[in-house]
Amino acid sequence: MGRPLRVLMVEDSENDVRVIVRRLQLGGFLPVFKQVCTAEEMRSALDREPWDLVLSGFLMSNFSGFSALALLQEKKIDIPFIVVSGRIGEEAAVEISKAGAHDYVKKDRLARLVPAVERELREAEVRREREKVQAELRQSAEQLRLQSTALNSAANAVVITNSKGRILWVNPAFFRNSGYTFEEAVGQTLRLLKSGLQPPSFYDHLWKTILSGEVWQGEIINRRKDGSFYTEEMTITPVTDEREGISHFIAIKQDVTQRKKAEETVQHMAFYDPLTDLPNRNNLIDRIHRAIRAEDGGGHPIGLILIDLDRFKEVNETLGHLRGDTLLKELGLRLQSVLFEPDVVAHLGADLFAVLLPKLAKAEDIQFVIEKIQKLLLSPFSIEDLPVAVEASIGVALYPEHARTSEELLRRADIAMHAAKESGSGHALYDPTLDKHHPQRLALMAELRQAIEQNHLLLHYQPKISIRDKKTVGAEALVRWNHPQHGMIPPDEFIGPAERTGLIHPMTYWLLRTAIQQCREWRRAGVDVVVSANLSARNLLDPKLPGTVVELLREGEVPPEFIQFEITESAIMTDPAHAQKMMFTLRDIGIRFSIDDFGIGYSSLKYLQKLPVDQIKVDKSFVMHMIQNTGDAKIVRSTIDLAHNLGLGVVAEGVESESILNRLDEMNCDLAQGYFFTQPLSGEALIRWLSESPWGLKKN
Ligand code: C2E
Ligand code: CA
Ligand code: CA
Repeated sequence: MGRPLRVLMVEDSENDVRVIVRRLQLGGFLPVFKQVCTAEEMRSALDREPWDLVLSGFLMSNFSGFSALALLQEKKIDIPFIVVSGRIGEEAAVEISKAGAHDYVKKDRLARLVPAVERELREAEVRREREKVQAELRQSAEQLRLQSTALNSAANAVVITNSKGRILWVNPAFFRNSGYTFEEAVGQTLRLLKSGLQPPSFYDHLWKTILSGEVWQGEIINRRKDGSFYTEEMTITPVTDEREGISHFIAIKQDVTQRKKAEETVQHMAFYDPLTDLPNRNNLIDRIHRAIRAEDGGGHPIGLILIDLDRFKEVNETLGHLRGDTLLKELGLRLQSVLFEPDVVAHLGADLFAVLLPKLAKAEDIQFVIEKIQKLLLSPFSIEDLPVAVEASIGVALYPEHARTSEELLRRADIAMHAAKESGSGHALYDPTLDKHHPQRLALMAELRQAIEQNHLLLHYQPKISIRDKKTVGAEALVRWNHPQHGMIPPDEFIGPAERTGLIHPMTYWLLRTAIQQCREWRRAGVDVVVSANLSARNLLDPKLPGTVVELLREGEVPPEFIQFEITESAIMTDPAHAQKMMFTLRDIGIRFSIDDFGIGYSSLKYLQKLPVDQIKVDKSFVMHMIQNTGDAKIVRSTIDLAHNLGLGVVAEGVESESILNRLDEMNCDLAQGYFFTQPLSGEALIRWLSESPWGLKKN
């Protein structure tokens, strides 16, 4: 089997071509060849196909070896060019070699041809390889240059170490983060930055991970050259070498101290009272929640004590607010001083404090704590050297005896506290008879079922007003229960039990149907407002809900854009995957969503962004006090800004005064809702209000 060879023959003698081809065949080649006699013929042959070799005569009638070589060079084709000629003299041969011909073979010495061809083919191959490598090198040098520019200008610190962790290289950001220069860092290890704030097990785990060839990622507190601490997010990637395993480590570090601080501030504002710096109501509820989970039937009751100062308003009025504040701070400190871990002192606002005892040995022990608190209240407070005596009413409730949830426990303690206040007894333990609405729960639920069937439930509507246009654009439907014996029962009292017993489903059906019918009536009367309905966690898990909604909209002849659902974050978080699916299904129907009570739960706008949400409702607990409480005002403002950044609208609920409304206007809040405009109204009363109130529907 011969070796294929594509040969371009520059030669006008057919005979010579035959002899040369024969010679190549004898030498083991399988030549495919083309004979050309002029420059034009050679040019087009070179253009049309690739060649391995040019064998050229020296002097031809219309062409010459020199011109053929020049043509090949002009085309920048690097293949062997060998002159095969009878007539070439020594001088001409040297000349053409200088011009770039690779070799020459005299016709009477044709035996040299095959070795010359073989050698030149080999050399051409070597030249080609070399060219390829050089091209690659040129490319990778360029790449390296770009990469090192990127590393040098990166905002994140980059450190390259050897396999022992000795620093070989750092980028300029490393100096900016840590204060150590390149010269100071190189040769050291990253222990240079050690803060001592991580336990040895932290580093053990880190090393174990990277030595096994895996990437380590995490947060670490380090120490700068100037001694200050900073938090970094760090990724360490082992670089492996085929033969030797791990050869280097690359650490990329981002200083997240600022971000952490900002997060902590926001967290702190949301969970601590700004005056006393004690845990606030949300924080307390969260802690009760955790205590309940931790208790988990272990037989250790949880105690909650509420302490409300009597006639604190008088203290404030006679001594002034500043001194009143001093007294509250002092009381917070005293309470803390008589309690031990894991007890919690919280400040729920104004003159109301709470003490949580998450793990009592037995229920009776709470008595000792009450006595301690009463005793610390006995000695007068010294406010600017002025002795001030205070009295307090104390309410106590126990889990699991009096309540099953954190909210319930708080409510029961509150009922007890009010009972103590009314009777002037100093303190009271919760007792069902104290509770006007105390539901013999099962009985109450049976009654609720009846109430739904017999239409004892009603809906009230509270307008949502566009702050910029000063006109009503929507109304929130709020359920009421007009109980034949107990009178109006507020929804907070029966929605929770309804959820637990499943009665929430018929109730929601009733409520949606009523709200949609109401919407239809309003539209007939020329009133176009979006009606919002509240959904609870269980509703989001109800596979029948979307079908029901479609059916009710059709029946009521109401377009879906007139209905909005309000959902709390905690309802979503009960089962995020299901909630998300449900929300997208309802969105596809055309329903829009508002996130209720924003600010007291997870407050994760980032997560909410993944859901089909149009609106955020800032919780009333922040809005109501935003004039007096700068912490609350800050939360409201940043929620508005953040929501707007994400393209969401914002409603403030709990707008109780004009000054709150004006502040919200300054903060660019979109909608407002609250007692300042009106309490929730019946459907009919709302129509009247809309036509009479300056906040009603805009008169054109
Ligand atoms: P929510 O959804 O946050 O409703 C707002 C509550 O704030 C209403 O209480 C409303 O009357 C009250 N409110 C309105 N303006 C002001 C104000 O300026 N200041 C103050 N302090 N309060 C104001 P309501 O009607 O007692 O409802 C309590 C909660 O019960 C609602 O809170 C909601 O979570 C639940 N709820 C009410 N209706 C329904 C319903 O139909 N279905 C479900 N699942 N939950 C409902
Ligand atoms: Ca609501
Ligand atoms: Ca709300």
